[in-house]
Amino acid sequence: MSTSICVVGAGPRGTVLVERIAANAWRRRIDVHVVDPYPPGGGHVWQADQPGHLLMNTVAADTTLFTDDSVHCAGPVVPGPNLYEWACSTAREGDPDPVIRDEAVRMLPWSHPTRRFHGRYLAWVYGRVKETAPEWITIHEHRTRAVALTEDADGRQIVALEDGTGPLTVDAVILALGHTDLEPLPEQRAHARFAADHGLFYGPPANPLDAPLDAIPPGAPLLVRGLGMNFFDHMSLLTTGRGGRFDHDGERLRYRPSGREPVLYAGSRRGVPYLARGDYGRMPPAVPARYFGDDAVARLRGAGPADFRTDVWPLIAKETTAVYYDVLLRENPSACAMRPERFRAKFDALAWEDPAMADLIASAFPDPAVRLDFSALHRPLGSLSLDHHPVHETVEALVRADLARARDARHSPLKNAMTALGATRGRVRRLVTHGGLTGESHRRDLDGWFQGFAASVASGPPAGRVEELLALADAGLVRFVGPDMTVTTDPAAGAFLGSSPRTGSAPVKAPAFLEAHLPPPDLGRTADPLLRRLRDDGACRPYRIPTPGGPAYETRGMDVAAETFRIIDARGRVHPRRFALGIPIESVDWLTAMGAKPASNAAMLVQADAVARAALTAH
Ligand SMILES: Cc1cc2nc3c(=O)[nH]c(=O)nc-3n(C[C@H](O)[C@H](O)[C@H](O)COP(=O)(O)OP(=O)(O)OC[C@H]3O[C@@H](n4cnc5c(N)ncnc54)[C@H](O)[C@@H]3O)c2cc1C
Repeated sequence: MSTSICVVGAGPRGTVLVERIAANAWRRRIDVHVVDPYPPGGGHVWQADQPGHLLMNTVAADTTLFTDDSVHCAGPVVPGPNLYEWACSTAREGDPDPVIRDEAVRMLPWSHPTRRFHGRYLAWVYGRVKETAPEWITIHEHRTRAVALTEDADGRQIVALEDGTGPLTVDAVILALGHTDLEPLPEQRAHARFAADHGLFYGPPANPLDAPLDAIPPGAPLLVRGLGMNFFDHMSLLTTGRGGRFDHDGERLRYRPSGREPVLYAGSRRGVPYLARGDYGRMPPAVPARYFGDDAVARLRGAGPADFRTDVWPLIAKETTAVYYDVLLRENPSACAMRPERFRAKFDALAWEDPAMADLIASAFPDPAVRLDFSALHRPLGSLSLDHHPVHETVEALVRADLARARDARHSPLKNAMTALGATRGRVRRLVTHGGLTGESHRRDLDGWFQGFAASVASGPPAGRVEELLALADAGLVRFVGPDMTVTTDPAAGAFLGSSPRTGSAPVKAPAFLEAHLPPPDLGRTADPLLRRLRDDGACRPYRIPTPGGPAYETRGMDVAAETFRIIDARGRVHPRRFALGIPIESVDWLTAMGAKPASNAAMLVQADAVARAALTAH
């Protein structure tokens, strides 16, 4: 008897799925069909031919696709090199591509590799999986898009392909689709129409690789909304990507323009770019959890759906704050007006939300400037009167101070605290998965606040990117617009107008407007033909999270069964042969965009193993 499985999407997750199918398959004929319009391994995001100035925001030694002994899975562990180890062997053994070889030679465990280098690693992993697969497994590649999924009378799954080949008739289908494009919102449609009518440029939210940036005129103002990771990619594509270069003049990094750059007028809700990642000159510190560890997660999960604001955030805040004051006491003991042991003991004994905690911190650290202030991190320009402070210079000063801290991360209380905050997200993930929070709290606190907040303070760009941003500001090619940036249209002037309501400045008039942010997945608005068809046929549904005594939260993610990841249809039936993993199910399983980290029992690997095993018996 033979089995056939179709994996739709051949990015990192699809690659791990193929590896897990091969690892778990027993002696019988298995056909694995891999469908993706992009080359398997890197898929769309990690194409190996993308420009070399686009960087990963994770570090080399924290990236793998292989299982190790930490991974709690039923299938066999098949170890392999992480990205850093692969770079080391590439440096030793050489690579026909000198660009890859050079990067491999320079790689350190804590380097942020180029995306194309990671793409090469992923392609290598995929190739190795193919080469080492047992002879009874045949892998078929289909370099096209899957556009529909139906079934025959025997329950066999039929995958229709965009290029007209196929269809593929298989026993089980696993969707590993990643980020898919979304249908535009009414405002985005209106901006696109306005741009078309007036000969202007409008770039909707997209993967920067797909944005038609060549249409942005050189020298002209460009409004950019968004100051997160997507912004930094666009910044790089519009400067280095247009022939400019950065060099150090001994004092500062300077930008040498090519003359083909637009002038970026950039803003966002916070008005300030994501904080730079700490540059520790070694792997970022792994601080053991004290207040929000695995035991706290187990306790909260056992107690039923939690409220993030009252049950979870206080633990995260205390965890993060403890790291902050540990480093402050080490680096600047004179800032503390209390004996450190006394402060630590009292801190340890108090709950975060106890008013005595704020009093303790205030009396131990009399100078407010040295204290950790979460609200200032959340709204960095919150209390400043921007009528009196020039906004560009104010933001620039904040960015410069952040860069100084990032460059000296080992000694920075804030950078250490934000590294610790970032690390809590793995535990948050385990807690919130599959309805661990009430629907109301998931909507308000996780989707509405913590997700974006944690990304902005703990998942930012490498410090070097922020240094480049400052060099561009020095060169007059980046201007900060301010918080709560709005963009409107001026038909009379035939231009977009960008401004911040918090400043008294006149709006910036521009012939080009770029949305530099990637929206979260949204089943209701997906432009992916396969997902759209499944949704419209009632073959899948959005995940709803109940709130005891309150309204359920209908999320934008796709509903799948707990642990088996089987797709649930509009009538609530769990499909035995259809599975989905990764970004489209983000509301069920938070933080799906995070790749697998070695020695961390990575969810991506655990889940892929479970799904591969279930798919092998789904007939
Ligand atoms: C621009 C960008 C930069 C990122 N940088 C980082 C980073 O530095 N570090 C990090 O950890 N994460 C990063 N991420 C997050 C990224 O999503 C994950 O790292 C990882 O790529 C997720 O893997 P995946 O296989 O689930 O999804 P993806 O990598 O998105 O792969 C999904 C694949 O499915 C294919 N597909 C979709 N629909 C269909 C269809 N209908 N038929 C056939 N194929 C289909 C796509 O072509 C794609 O190749 C980044 C994401 C983006 C968009």
